[in-house]
Amino acid sequence: MNTYFIGLDFGGTNLKAGLVCRENGVVSQITTIPTMPHEGPTGVMQRMAGLINGILTNSPAAKQSIGGIGIGVPGVLDLEKGSTRFLPNLPGNWPDIPLAATIQDQTGLPVHLLNDVRAITYGEWKFGAGRGASDMVCFAIGTGIGGGVVINNQLILGIGGTAGELGHITVDLNGQLCGCGNHGCVETYASGPAITAAGIKAVTQGLTTSIGKMADYDLNKITPELIAKAAQGGDPIAKDIYHQAGVALGVAVANVLVTLGPRRVVFGGGVARAGKLLLNTIRQTIDTRVKMMPVDQVELVQAKLGDNAGIIGVAMWASHRIG
Ligand SMILES: [Zn+2]
Repeated sequence: MNTYFIGLDFGGTNLKAGLVCRENGVVSQITTIPTMPHEGPTGVMQRMAGLINGILTNSPAAKQSIGGIGIGVPGVLDLEKGSTRFLPNLPGNWPDIPLAATIQDQTGLPVHLLNDVRAITYGEWKFGAGRGASDMVCFAIGTGIGGGVVINNQLILGIGGTAGELGHITVDLNGQLCGCGNHGCVETYASGPAITAAGIKAVTQGLTTSIGKMADYDLNKITPELIAKAAQGGDPIAKDIYHQAGVALGVAVANVLVTLGPRRVVFGGGVARAGKLLLNTIRQTIDTRVKMMPVDQVELVQAKLGDNAGIIGVAMWASHRIG
């Protein structure tokens, strides 16, 4: 009986892995090592295999109770081949790298890949804020905005696992250029860097706001978290920055609601820690805009699993695929 699966979160800075119990989602043996992406795919994959083999060696669980490995990857994948197609934030972008087969060879366990935010979505659905909802979507709001979709109790993959790129929903036809090449994506309005940039702009323009003082007049210290604190303290400029981000997110959520009719929308990532500051505006925006579905039945909730959501999710995905 396969009781445990290993989840590995492949980040641009760190590789983090843990042993996940498939019955309750509890993670143990969490280990983090630097990714060292400049070493290229061969070096990084060796480090990944070393990390996993270390967990296998030290695990109190019998090796035969560990059913396989899931790897959450920051980019576009070929799920059928188990290879990477385009990892935008890694040197060389990893075109057509046989990641699953390589790790399988070096660890002796079957490997399944999943986009990192689809992994967070799956984790939140299995054991977090999405639990019990047959239809849910997840927005993960951090450096970028990622997402994922579960419909009829199934993670929706689309072509090669690309379904759920909710950060790239257009909310302004003539909006600014996004990193993806499109104009007016919600990510350009509500990601962490977008909120930080709005705070920096307010301070450099000399607007009356406590943001500058709170950051000791050091622009590098302005973060979404600091602006959220200013807003919670009543600062009108900071409140407006979160209001604008919340309206943009609300429009994106409204588009998703009329497309999929989900019962629950989960918000994760660092920016979503602002909680009601963001969720109240999203709620007002969808209440105003969405008339074609019973929007009062849609729950907007904060993610629950925190930084381990990806590891839990991708391990459970491997469990789902391997059985
Ligand atoms: Zn975009």
